[in-house]
Amino acid sequence: SMYLMNDRFVKDDEVTISIEDRGYYFGDGVYEVIRVYGGAMFTAEEHIGRLYESAEKIRMELPYGEEEMIAKLARLVADNGVKEGHVYVQATRGAAPRVHQFPGEGITPVITAYTKSYPDHAPAAEPAKLKSAADIRWLRCDIKSLNLLANVMAKQEAFEAGCTEALLHRDGTVTEGSSSNMFGVKDGVIHTHPVSNFILNGITRRVIMQCCEELGQPVKEEPMALEDVYEMDEFFLSSTTNGILPVSEIDGRKIGDGHPGPVTERLMAAFESKLPEPIAT
Ligand code: PLP
Repeated sequence: SMYLMNDRFVKDDEVTISIEDRGYYFGDGVYEVIRVYGGAMFTAEEHIGRLYESAEKIRMELPYGEEEMIAKLARLVADNGVKEGHVYVQATRGAAPRVHQFPGEGITPVITAYTKSYPDHAPAAEPAKLKSAADIRWLRCDIKSLNLLANVMAKQEAFEAGCTEALLHRDGTVTEGSSSNMFGVKDGVIHTHPVSNFILNGITRRVIMQCCEELGQPVKEEPMALEDVYEMDEFFLSSTTNGILPVSEIDGRKIGDGHPGPVTERLMAAFESKLPEPIAT
């Protein structure tokens, strides 16, 4: 399959990344993952909008604009024949001798993108089991940065406990997951962390908020206390790759009866109705 390298489309054996790339040295860059449903990218404008916002927040100027980026990624999806899958795109500050401060004039960002096709007839993901973990990340979690070490450590901690995702908390206040946003349901009301520097403003979260508005589903954008999540009636997470995923257990304690609840199921149906129509083959 083909890859995007800056403004060129190349074969995998033609991809060359410098050992001095600042993404490799410092995680000095930003990225996005865009889901492809039925051959079409879903919410590409929102994802690429966030990519350019993340780049701006780290004071990195990309060599071409959002529209051109979307067109290039659409071409990659088409050329690689992706039906169900995703596109990964990242931009680093470029390759230069290793000093922490920004490189001087003439160093340009390095953009790479690839596609991944999912296997046909893949079974739906199982409900998630969460393990709570301290959120030890920096204070700019609103930036979708390549620096993911704290997320990696939390996810590993969850996996070693037999769980699929970490439920991050700062001093007992739930923020989000290591690669997802988190939602609890209590007495018919959805609770989720407000958009701030403590979470990534998820694109799936935004679609969910839109669905809630359309359904007249009450939402409280207020942080949840970790000690309260075990008593929630329902719990779910959201991410580009999983959409809405019900949560059956947190720290070994069952949520509700362990099956997706009515609020979660209604939202999942509303979310699905927003996806591109599958292309008949
Ligand atoms: N929070 C974090 C830390 C993430 O890495 C992600 C995505 O991977 C999300 C939330 C969910 O965001 P989105 O719905 O845009 O994929």
